[in-house]
Amino acid sequence: MAVTDEIESLHSSFYVNQLRGHALRTDPFSYDRDTYLMEETLPTAELAVGGCLELADKIMAEEINYGFALIRPPGHHAEPGRGMGFCVFNNVALTAKYLLDTYKLRRILIVDFDIHHGNGTQEAFYDSDQVMFLSLHQSSLFPFTGKESETGEEDGRGYTINVPVFSQFGDPEYTYLLGRLLQNLVEQYQPQVILVSAGYDGHIDESISSTLLSTKWFGVATAMLRQAAREVCDNKLLFILEGGYNPVSLEASILETFNSLITKEIPQTGIFPVKRAEKLLAQHPLREFWSI
Ligand SMILES: [Zn+2]
Repeated sequence: MAVTDEIESLHSSFYVNQLRGHALRTDPFSYDRDTYLMEETLPTAELAVGGCLELADKIMAEEINYGFALIRPPGHHAEPGRGMGFCVFNNVALTAKYLLDTYKLRRILIVDFDIHHGNGTQEAFYDSDQVMFLSLHQSSLFPFTGKESETGEEDGRGYTINVPVFSQFGDPEYTYLLGRLLQNLVEQYQPQVILVSAGYDGHIDESISSTLLSTKWFGVATAMLRQAAREVCDNKLLFILEGGYNPVSLEASILETFNSLITKEIPQTGIFPVKRAEKLLAQHPLREFWSI
């Protein structure tokens, strides 16, 4: 799928041209502290975007209910004017933009459970109420954005929902937070499709974070997302791979997601209050905007 126009609908031509220039170099090149570019980077990143958009088309045509874009490079740190944090193009933001432009959708929910804040996705829709961005991420971790007080601006006020969690949060806290937020926000916002920035780097075996998520939790999260998509948007649910750096836990956790997606009956999840997590929501500024 040719995606140049779609990419430039979000990313600046200055940035895209910069990447084209770097694509001519045969030696690996350090774009920033942790983002490397080489000859194959641009075509690979374009293929990744194309894969997401094709899945979005299939979901909108009701050829499939669920999609999972198993792609690299990841995207949620990429801002309109620059890549960063291993990310070149913002796959999930481009997919949302494509759905808004091509299918005239007006309410898209992006759920980002990568352990890092999706700063690029937040920036892309910070002033819009057409995309609700819900991010659960570990506080005080790269890229050091995603504070609770960042809630959007202009028409977008209230549509950016950051829930920075503490280190040592694990399955019970995450299940409570994601379950409770999904239940309430989905009912009030009524998204037409749910996109997921699926990052697996909050796993207990990942050295990049200090949260304690088990492999099994990613199946639980998937079931909760399926349930939400069934309730409001005819099961339209698209996962897009973000982080995950321990190859063993990454593979097992993605498989857990797949298994949870293909189970005939959606497994029901009990959502039990956990003190530290309850406190986070009780003090959250989003309570000004949404009943949670
Ligand atoms: Zn991450």
